[in-house]
Amino acid sequence: MNERTLPPTGGMSAASTEPRPQAGAVPTLAVEQRLQWLAAFAAALAQVGPEAFVECLTAWLLPAVADMYCLALVQPDGAIETRITAHADAHLHRLLTESRAWCYHDPSGAGVVAEVIRSGRPLFFPTMDHALYLAAARDAPHAELRSALQMHAGAVVPLLVQGQAIGALSIGIMAPERRLDQSDAGFLNEIAQRIALVLDNQQLRRQAQEAGEARDASLAIMAHELRTPIAALITQLQILRRRVDEADRYDERVLVGMKMLDTQVRRLNVLVDTLLEATYFDRQPRPLAHERFDVGQIVRRVHDAFLDTLTSHTLHLDLSREALIIEGDPLRIEQALQNLLQNAVKYSPYGGNITLRLERYGLHAQITISDEGIGIPPEARTRIFERFYRAANAINQGISGVGVGLYVVQAIIALHNGTIVVAETPAAGASFVVELPLAPA
Ligand code: ADP
Repeated sequence: MNERTLPPTGGMSAASTEPRPQAGAVPTLAVEQRLQWLAAFAAALAQVGPEAFVECLTAWLLPAVADMYCLALVQPDGAIETRITAHADAHLHRLLTESRAWCYHDPSGAGVVAEVIRSGRPLFFPTMDHALYLAAARDAPHAELRSALQMHAGAVVPLLVQGQAIGALSIGIMAPERRLDQSDAGFLNEIAQRIALVLDNQQLRRQAQEAGEARDASLAIMAHELRTPIAALITQLQILRRRVDEADRYDERVLVGMKMLDTQVRRLNVLVDTLLEATYFDRQPRPLAHERFDVGQIVRRVHDAFLDTLTSHTLHLDLSREALIIEGDPLRIEQALQNLLQNAVKYSPYGGNITLRLERYGLHAQITISDEGIGIPPEARTRIFERFYRAANAINQGISGVGVGLYVVQAIIALHNGTIVVAETPAAGASFVVELPLAPA
């Protein structure tokens, strides 16, 4: 096989009109060089995306390793199809890619590709008996193609992932003086394993993306479905409240119960809203109001709404005396703070103190929400803002959640040109610091 230690310049070799050295024209690579070649080959394949995969593969394999190659892949339904093929000779390349004769392989048939995939073992043809090769063609077009290819030696190597063949790499050599030997067998196996790894990674990434999209879609549908009954509950509660207000006499306990219902339904509403927004945030950010408002009033409102609902936590409010005016959407800031406070409660299952502090910090309003709960492991401190990420301690302790709240909170804060970080806490618990730029006077 030809010497090639430098990454190729790219481009389908067959499409190029420049003369290329034939495989076997220079001596076989030394072991050391082969290892270097393999390392560079693997690095090049790992760097390209699925779109450029074939181009990259072709540029590396042709003609350094062979004059032609084909990749047959096992399809989800078990069928075996040759999906990728290339030849160093432009004319033969066209012939190969235009012909469909070689595309399908009977998975249980006698063809070598199917046999290699079934057995997981390579087959080498150090020299090819042309008469036999042509006789084994499936049909006339297949025989015609084989005859045109003038193959002199070849190999079919399985692409193995955890012992299972996901396909096969076939290579063909045209130069009659070229022989495939035992060292080529090992080299081709190594090449095939690197290709298999990249293909497997591509497949996993595709599956993960599809799963993510399916999860997004079902979450969005669920959230949409929940919105209608929640809206109905909110309306009914408003009607009930008006009736109670108009009544001459009512039981005080009814009022307490209604207030509790009201708080919980509103909390549910925020939760569902957050869920819906997390699935669509990237694509359709909601329009933002542009108002000047005192962030202190919002902090107080969030504090007051939570105060009544807490049983095992003590909520402290530490509010700046001066008005801290920011520009943006007060409802969205309220939504973000509600989320942070809900987390503070949820992630301190044994109760404790929760502090909500607002102060001026240079040209920013700084809001700190601290609790004495389970805390956030250092390795999770930045990752918790990713969509669907949940820290291990939260999962291990069985605290339920979806992992989208902080993603939305961070997006809302960013829309206000602000930042949110997890502060280092000397004691147990978590502390989130939000900074929002003050509006110019
Ligand atoms: P959820 O609470 O639904 O899991 P979030 O996006 O609100 O989603 O939070 C992401 C993760 O951040 C949580 O799963 C948890 O691991 C961690 N987290 C958030 N707030 C706190 C907190 N106050 N204390 C400890 N961990 C927290």
